[in-house]
Amino acid sequence: MQQPDVRGYFGEFGGRFVPEVLIDALDRLTVEMTAAFGDPSFWREYDEVLRDFVGRPSPLYRAERYGDAARVPLLLKREDTNHTGAHKINNTVGQALLARRMGKKRLIAETGAGQHGVATATVGAKFGFPVDVYMGAVDVERQALNVYIMKVLGATVHPVTGGTQTLKDATNEAFRVWAAEVEEAFYVIGSVVGAHPYPYMVREFQKVIGVESRRECLERYGRLPTDVIACVGGGSNAMGIFAGFVDDPQVRLWGVEAAGEGVDSGKTAAALGAGRVGVLHGSRSYLLQNAHGQVQDTHSISAGLDYPGVGPEHAFLKESGRATYVPVTDAQALDAFFEFARAEGIIPAVESAHAIAFAKQLAAERGPDDLILVNLSGRGDKDIAQVRAMTGDA
Ligand SMILES: *Cc1c(COP(=O)(O)O)cnc(C)c1O
Repeated sequence: MQQPDVRGYFGEFGGRFVPEVLIDALDRLTVEMTAAFGDPSFWREYDEVLRDFVGRPSPLYRAERYGDAARVPLLLKREDTNHTGAHKINNTVGQALLARRMGKKRLIAETGAGQHGVATATVGAKFGFPVDVYMGAVDVERQALNVYIMKVLGATVHPVTGGTQTLKDATNEAFRVWAAEVEEAFYVIGSVVGAHPYPYMVREFQKVIGVESRRECLERYGRLPTDVIACVGGGSNAMGIFAGFVDDPQVRLWGVEAAGEGVDSGKTAAALGAGRVGVLHGSRSYLLQNAHGQVQDTHSISAGLDYPGVGPEHAFLKESGRATYVPVTDAQALDAFFEFARAEGIIPAVESAHAIAFAKQLAAERGPDDLILVNLSGRGDKDIAQVRAMTGDA
């Protein structure tokens, strides 16, 4: 498993592109994180919270009827069964424990669809931190239910009115606020993005997905999967499951990006498929940009994948050829959403439906001796109203 170098680079990706005031804070965070990661009592508590509060280990479920599942074994890592309904809580638990260890007084987070905001509000309530969540004003409108859930949990949601009033702008604002209050506040980032050490730290907190999957696969099927598939927004659920297998060269790793209306349509969120190398939110990676190098507006049916950048370690895995990144469109994801729900009795998050759609394509090229593992990153309850409106169903 690749560690970032001392400057926070995976190959030529990552680093720290932040205002001077944050360098010292990131240095201190790196020191405290490194100490915590070397302390078995830190991981003991993390494991306990994941067991008793989150409900881990999450099941490894063998699909029976979806797509080619009867011919080609298809395993689902059930992150949808976690408390709050997705993988995001693994990371917010870890960061909240680190914030407490550092003596911080409150938590700051950005959120797009609201899933990371809810996961942060949840650990804020559990550990007794006040939580301030920054959210684009457009997203506050679109995601009214999650805004209210955060309020129920005691968090304060701040609508951000700059730019396109979405996740990118919320992230800028959260960074700005953090820079002003760096002594008191801990910035809880929601994916494997941002300045070093965040991409590495978030990966370490999501690695539990891959570690459990690898062990469960060996125990129950006596072998490793031949293929591991996960959807990629910022890339945290994918890095989490990849981390369990990246050192097994025979296991093929597949990241599925949201193509939106098509990779070349201009209405896409496929940063690795359609982007170029640039700097966003503190690190160097692939990102969607126009001819002038300005960050391009993105589109995806799935709010959790609708982000113009991608974590630097994914850029590294792409360039090194260790992982392959493929696009799935809105329409393909929506088809998979219904087909999977009706075949398996599990409603997937629309994000996860992208990975599920690709699993069916891949199965067509695989046989009974192969073993496909998909990360089911979250449950689809949150998407029901949107899907219902889009399909015009009563
Ligand atoms: C947020 C989210 C994602 C995308 O985030 P990553 O950091 O790429 O994992 C995927 N699935 C679900 C269910 C989410 O909530």
